[in-house]
This record gives sequence, C-alpha cells and structure tokens, in this order.
Amino acid sequence: MAHTRYPNLLAPLDLGHVTLRNRVLMGSMHVGLEEQFGPLTKLAAYFRVRARHKVGLIVTGGFAPSWSGGVKPLAGRLSNAWEVHKHRVITDAVHEEGGRIALQILHAGRYAYHPLAVAPSPQKSPISPFRARGLSARGVEGTIGDFVRCAVAAKAAGYDGVEIMGSEGYLINQFIAAKTNRRTDGWGGSFEQRIRFPLEIVRRTRQAVGADFIIVFRLSMLDLVDDGSTWDEVVHLAKELQAAGVSILNTGIGWHEARVPTIATMVPRAAFTWITARLREHVRVPLITSNRINMPDVAEQVLARGDADMVSMARPFLADPEWVEKAEQGREDEINTCIACNQACIDHVFKNIRASCLVNPKACYEDELVVAPTAAPKRVAVVGAGPAGLAAATTAAERGHHVVLFDAAAEIGGQLNLARQVPGKEEFNETLRYFRRRLEITGVDVRLGSLATAADLRGFDTILLATGVHPRALSIPGADHPKVVSYIDVLRRTVEVGARVAIIGAGGIGFDVAAFLAHDDGAHGVDGYLDTWGVDRAYSGRGALKAPREAVAARDVTLCQRSAGKPGAKLGKTTGWIHRATLQKLGVKALSGVTYQRVDDAGLHVLIDGRSLVLEVDHVVVCAGQEPNRSLEASLAGMNVVRIGGADVASELDARRAIDQGTRVAAAL
Ligand code: FAD
Ligand code: NAP
Ligand code: SF4
Repeated sequence: MAHTRYPNLLAPLDLGHVTLRNRVLMGSMHVGLEEQFGPLTKLAAYFRVRARHKVGLIVTGGFAPSWSGGVKPLAGRLSNAWEVHKHRVITDAVHEEGGRIALQILHAGRYAYHPLAVAPSPQKSPISPFRARGLSARGVEGTIGDFVRCAVAAKAAGYDGVEIMGSEGYLINQFIAAKTNRRTDGWGGSFEQRIRFPLEIVRRTRQAVGADFIIVFRLSMLDLVDDGSTWDEVVHLAKELQAAGVSILNTGIGWHEARVPTIATMVPRAAFTWITARLREHVRVPLITSNRINMPDVAEQVLARGDADMVSMARPFLADPEWVEKAEQGREDEINTCIACNQACIDHVFKNIRASCLVNPKACYEDELVVAPTAAPKRVAVVGAGPAGLAAATTAAERGHHVVLFDAAAEIGGQLNLARQVPGKEEFNETLRYFRRRLEITGVDVRLGSLATAADLRGFDTILLATGVHPRALSIPGADHPKVVSYIDVLRRTVEVGARVAIIGAGGIGFDVAAFLAHDDGAHGVDGYLDTWGVDRAYSGRGALKAPREAVAARDVTLCQRSAGKPGAKLGKTTGWIHRATLQKLGVKALSGVTYQRVDDAGLHVLIDGRSLVLEVDHVVVCAGQEPNRSLEASLAGMNVVRIGGADVASELDARRAIDQGTRVAAAL
C-alpha cells in the first residue's frame, strides 16, 4: 500500500532483476575512509547504519579503476582480484541490513592530484597543479578495460551494481566535451567520436557483468563551463547510454571547475531538478535527480511533479543516517537536516581529513564516537544553549544523565540565531528545530530566560560551561561614537543601518554581515539564483551558461582588515570563493592592510600604505573577532566545571567545533 505522506518517495522501484525498497539513493561521497588498509571495516560500519535505516540504494565514494585514475596518490582503488576481499565487509554489512549498494567507479583524468594523471589530451586542469599526459589509443583501450575489470571485481565483491562516474568534469566528461577532448583519432573530433569512450565502457561492462547487475551512469546534464555540451548532445548521449545497457541515469550538475555554486547552502533547495525533468520524455530508463534536496517534503514534491524517478542525497545521510525511517514513521521533525555548509564533509576531504558532519559528529566515526547509556546517572547542569550546550545537553540526557539546561536568552541557539539571519544561511533554522525536538525527546529540563548564577548551580555533579563568547570591543578613539555598532545589533535589527557602511574585520562574521547589509532581493528563489550565477535555463548555448544578471546592492559596503592579503582567505575551502564572489557581485569594496585611526562624525579614519583616508559612512560595524565569555566561572570555585565551545576557546571557533566538543564531552561523562 502506498505511504500516505510520501507515496512517491517511499514507493519501491522495480529494475527488473531487483526491486529497490524506495526511491532514495544515497549519493556517492568520498569520506576519507576508502583508503583504509585491509578490509574496509570503518566504511562498512558507516554504510551499515544507513542501510539499517532503509536507504533504497547506496552508492560508495569513488574508487579508481587504476593507479592513474585516482583522485590523489594512493586513492581507494578496485582494479584487481586481490582487492576484492577488502570490500566484502561492506557488501555483507549492507546486505545483512536488507540494503543494496553500488560501487562508484571514478577515474579523475586531469583532475587527479598526482603526476600519473592522464586525460584525453595533454592538459592541466585549473584545480590540479599536475599536467595530465594524453592517453595513446592503446591507453584509451586499456582504460576502458580498467573500468570493465573494476565492475567485474565489484560484482565479485558482492556489490549490487556500479555507478560509472561520467560527470563533474572527470575523465569520462573530459572525453565527451570538446573543451577537453582535442584528439584527432577515433576517440575525438566529432561528438559521435567523443562519446565513444563512455559508450564503449558501458557496452563492455554490461557484456562482462551480465543482465542481473545495476549499472548507473552519472551523466553531466549541465556542464556549466564554456564549451561544455549542448542540450541536444546531452539527450543524444542519454539515448545512446540507454541502448548500451545502463539501468539508471543519474544527474550530474557542473564540473568541479565551474564558477557556479551547485551544492552550497545558498543554492535553493532542489534548484536543479528541472533539468532532469527535461530529459524524462527522451528515455525509458529511470532517472535520478540531485543537488540540495534535504528534506522528505522537498523530495516528495520533486517526484510527485514527475521530475525524476528517484532522488539522490549524499550529505543528508551524513547528517542523519535515520532520514528515510524518520520520514516513513512521520518523525520528520526529528530529522537532523544537512545545512549544506560543507564545513565538516567536503572541506575536510579537501584538506585530507576524514569527513564528518557539522550537525552530526558521529558520521564516519560510527565505531569510535559511541553514545552509550550510562551506568551511573549524574546531575548535569549545562549553562548556555548555543550549539555546544545543545549538543552536550541532548547527548548527556540521551545517555541517561539528569540534565538541566540554562540560557539567559528567551530562545535556544546562541549565535546560530544571528547566523540564520544571513541570506543563504536559513538552513540553521532546521538545526534549531532539530535540537528543540531533541531536548523534548531526551527529557532535558530547559530553563530559558535564566541567567545562571553560582547559586543555581549548586548540587550538580558536573557543570558544562557553554556560555559562548563576547564580541571583541574596538579600542580606538571614537569607539563609543553613535556610528559604531556591533554585528549583534545589526543582525538583531536593533539599529537602523544607514546607506553607507564600513565593516571592521573581514572574518566569517564580517563577510556574513556584508552579505546581510548589501543583500540583493532579486537573487532569491530558484530563478533569482540561476540568473545571478548565469545559469541558462533555456540551455541555448554550450554548457548552459549565460551572462549573470547585474546585482542590485541594498547598501554601499566597505569591508576592512588590518592584515595584508586577500580578505576571506581563511573562509571554507569549498565555499570561500562563493562568499568572495557574492560580495564582489554586490559591489562590496574590500580593503586590506588597514590601520584604524578613529571614528568621528565624518566617518572612519584609516591609514592604508601610509596614506590617510576617511571612509565617509553612516555606520561602522565591528566584527573584530570574539573572546571567551567566562564571567560566571570565577564564582564556581570548588565545583566540577568543564568548559566547552566558545567558553573554552574562542579563536577559530565555529559551530562544527562547538557541536563536536559538546557531543564528545557528554559522551564521556
Ligand atoms: P554561543 O552560540 O555563543 O552560545 C552561548 C550561549 O550561552 C548563549 O545563548 C548565551 O545566551 C548563553 N549564556 C551565556 N552566559 C550565560 C549564563 N550565565 N547563563 C545562561 N546562559 C548564558 N559557525 C559555523 O560553523 N558556520 C557558520 O556558517 C557560522 N556562521 C555564523 C554567522 C554569524 C553571523 C555568527 C555570529 C556566527 C556564525 N558561526 C558559524 C559561529 C557559531 O555560531 C559559533 O561558533 C557557535 O554558536 C558557538 O557556540 P557556543 O555554544 O560555544 O556559544
Ligand atoms: P575571525 O574569523 O577571527 O575574524 C575576526 C576579524 O577581525 C579578522 O578579520 C581580524 O583580522 C579582525 N580583528 C581581530 N582583532 C581585531 C582588533 N583588535 N581590531 C580590529 N580588527 C580585529 O572571527 P569572526 O569573524 O568574529 O568569526 C568568529 C568565528 O565564527 C570564526 O572562527 C568563524 O570560523 C566562525 N564563523 C564561520 C562562518 C562560516 O561560514 N563557516 C561564518 C561566520 C563565522 P585583522 O586582524 O587582519 O584585522
Ligand atoms: Fe551537510 Fe554540513 Fe554536515 Fe556536510 S557538514 S553533511 S554540508 S551539515
């Protein structure tokens, strides 16, 4: 019988030889566990829990079919029979939980970060320092053989299928696009010849693995680079792939070198499903759509509209492995929603650190960060309901401790209540909804509007001090001038900010405040976003790009920092460029190497390169960093106090560290 709320999302999908239990695909995501020596036990533990909670089909992170195809040196590989046994633990774990899993075969081509890189033609990509060698005709044949051997090994390892990665600008995509395929032999030149490479891979793979094996092909539907494919070429390739034997076509959006944000939090939810929808009339095989789908109602709407047959979500399963089951059981308000921040997942992978999740630090630490019931319940006071305090209070209570949570404010969330005011950071609302519900479920005694004092905290076995931070005050003449305001006043809208603004401090908060003040109302919604970033819904040219629309800034903003170098250099690895580009579009001026002199009625007086300058502004917003708020601590002598979050270390604090520390401290109480 169809599910009453999610009749499309939770409907089975019959692929002929196998039926998937629902329309939810856990999309491929490299998490840094793929390179474990010996059997891949940590990956197995990670996938097991997602399969247990009913994901329809899991796709692993990319495994290379050869040494040269790895994204980095020693990247996870499946290219020989002797590597098969490493994967058995994964497929056994998933099958024991009633799930299905496919291995993604990923050949990086010119994106490889090592000197053995190969590509259709000799070239360097903008995102790797290594120049790839052009494959010889024999090399092309050999590479096709590598894909086939990898798929055969995947079948031997017990996988239910493979996903052939043909998008995002990796090797296969490099063969397809004229931009990167300059060959003059039978593998280059005309479009028909450029697509021979993916088609031969699929044909020969199908022949080798037989009919009872899933082959998903990830097809780049929007390249979002100059000289990418046209829509007619995408349709043509999709039909040919169907004829060659794919079981399912998955949607790829944008090459990694594209200058259009495609998955970050400022991308509206489900902003790209329209392109999958457009392909549906041309093929019979099921289509998967993807990008910024993170809640069940969004996924259901996408499927109900007929945009696709399945939805792919990757990061949402880092955030909450129980996502499908919670949807099925009507517990959507318990879903720990992926906020698309990239901070603990993709940013980690780029830094060669194991991925995890800002809102769920247990992700990828399934067998290490275990929240077990306590044998000795304690009375625990948590002071501060920011992310550190929320994570600690709910984790401690989940374990069976008696927890009282104090916050001076009238609502939970601490600084997340400021963060969620920033355009494009609205997903923090979901984090607060999640914690609100979690406090109820775990039975935490929540006392809001309650500035905790030493008297309130007597009698507790442990006090977790999660009192956060104070903004750093400005110490120049005129710091008390009425023009000078704090980011807190601005984001709480307790001041009416004028048309010309200078911001002191170009860290994460300075950037957010600039985006908040200069915001462009026309950039909202799917169409506003696509127009702002120059994505051509009409697909009239190659790569689906068009001239971006001119932004209309609400204010004239100047962002200042004392240090030299590019402002925003320390912002997130995968999102910093988006923040910088956004401010540039909004005409925000950035000044480095600034010495602040004073503020007076004329504005902010600064020195740059020895030259005096007056920034004639109506307001000066101070975003000059933060210091720990430990004012309560001195009165707690003799009590068992543990600091967490900003109260512990304010420097380089973010919600990722706050939640991680709060969870770990409470897990060990
Ligand atoms: P806080 O969030 O500061 O919470 C401390 C709480 O303690 C407050 O609610 C306060 O009322 C309470 N309190 C203090 N003293 C007492 C007392 N005596 N009794 C009772 N209650 C008390 N981080 C990210 O990771 N990603 C982002 O994108 C991001 N964006 C941000 C954007 C903005 C505009 C801002 C301001 C911050 C952003 N941050 C972001 C940073 C993140 O919000 C902080 O790092 C995080 O909130 C710190 O958590 P915390 O729990 O340590 O402290
Ligand atoms: P921050 O990133 O440390 O930036 C503080 C800024 O103030 C710097 O530009 C610093 O640069 C300047 N500054 C420091 N001391 C100063 C002083 N005495 N006078 C004038 N300027 C001074 O801190 P933040 O912007 O307050 O952010 C706080 C934390 O929240 C950060 O750790 C950040 O990671 C997190 N956050 C994250 C995000 C995100 O998107 N991930 C967004 C917002 C906040 P100069 O010294 O060069 O002037
Ligand atoms: Fe989503 Fe952020 Fe978690 Fe990554 S770190 S999975 S983007 S919430």
